[in-house]
Amino acid sequence: MEKAAGVTGSAWAQALSQLDEAARLMNLDPNVHEVLRNPKRALTVSAPVRLDTGQVRVFTGYRVHHNTARGPSKGGIRYHPSVTMDEVKALAMWMTWKCAVVGIPYGGAKGGVVVDPKELSMGELEHLTRRYASEILPLIGPERDIPAPDVGTDEQIMAWIMDTYSMNQGYSVPGVVTGKPLAVGGSAGRAAATSRGVMYVTVATLKQLGLPVDEARVVIQGYGKVGSPAVDLLTEQGCRVVAVSDVNGGVYSPRGLSPKGLAAHHREAGTVTGYEGGEPVTNEELMELECDVLIPAALEGVITGTNAEGLRTKVVVEAANGPTTPKADEILHDRGIHVVPDILANSGGVTVSYFEWVQDIQAYFWTEEEVNQRLRSIMEKAYLDVLDMSTDRKISMRQAATILGVNRVAEAHTTRGLFP
Ligand code: NAD
Repeated sequence: MEKAAGVTGSAWAQALSQLDEAARLMNLDPNVHEVLRNPKRALTVSAPVRLDTGQVRVFTGYRVHHNTARGPSKGGIRYHPSVTMDEVKALAMWMTWKCAVVGIPYGGAKGGVVVDPKELSMGELEHLTRRYASEILPLIGPERDIPAPDVGTDEQIMAWIMDTYSMNQGYSVPGVVTGKPLAVGGSAGRAAATSRGVMYVTVATLKQLGLPVDEARVVIQGYGKVGSPAVDLLTEQGCRVVAVSDVNGGVYSPRGLSPKGLAAHHREAGTVTGYEGGEPVTNEELMELECDVLIPAALEGVITGTNAEGLRTKVVVEAANGPTTPKADEILHDRGIHVVPDILANSGGVTVSYFEWVQDIQAYFWTEEEVNQRLRSIMEKAYLDVLDMSTDRKISMRQAATILGVNRVAEAHTTRGLFP
């Protein structure tokens, strides 16, 4: 079997190593294993954009379908300067397992553009998005592959993709993307869905470990679409969010940060740094603060073999995708730190994306209460499925979640058979 050729340490190597370990633990059919180690299709595109200066700049973009055995593929689009094909492949594979863990009828996909969106004007961002969307048009569609927001993209970008696709079809196709604004077929509750799911699993984990939810000290790395609503939702549950950070650095207050004060400062300053309700900390220091729950909600590969020994938390809830390297995973396991894996912890986002797609197709929309209640029941079931397997087989929550996901995808493959 092919090794993770020359990509040791990359997100793709990390994803392959998790799959290989699950395959070993579950005695996966080697033929199915071989299929699952490879993305179904991977497209690289060039998107030329005329900048406001008149100069033309060519941006590189990707869209990867990892697997579609259980349904159309689903996954976000990332705009970040460090996006690579390897990273997109890993994120697409994790989407496959995630959709299977929560039992929604999707495969896994991911996309990305190598760009720092903050360096572009709104006009340039729109041109880039429409051109990138045009280049990946043959791959996307409501029955084929449904993008959503990820790091560096938002609901406005989803609206431009939806419009670009619709203009090409000649009629409106809201179901081609999720995470859209409500005005064009978005779902109530989608914006905070990932954070709400993170909150459900955090509370469930604290209870299961016999730790008090009230006053539980929480540290969150990343104050974006996932990290920021998580501050409010966890504070509402009685937790004390003692530190948060973004790409510029963090703030820490052992008494707990005020969600309102922090949000107001962030609106004004565009960053959490400089917030007067706490002391400054660096991102490195933040990871090693004493707390009950550490929630990485930024990028992958932030808990590594180098810093895992220094973590002073009881629980890690992976709101980000792939924040813990396999080496760090071993260290955390040996140190008795409980890890709730990404493919379970952040699955609230794709679950409500699925609800949005269902609502778009039916052209019949639900209330926020209905969305939240359905989200809760799906996440509670997924959490218990993973916990039961982890307890029964005496394996980690990550191994259990990966086995559960891989097994459901493998079953779909075996049942469908190999074409032709
Ligand atoms: P975002 O772009 O809205 O926010 C990212 C945050 O991380 C920002 O606050 C940014 O400043 C911070 N950040 C970036 N680089 C950093 C660094 N080096 N150190 C510290 N902070 C840094 O992105 P998001 O949508 O909130 O996504 C965050 C993570 O959650 C990603 O791993 C993403 O794949 C995952 N995720 C997102 C969703 C979703 O619905 N948006 C769903 C599931 C998983």
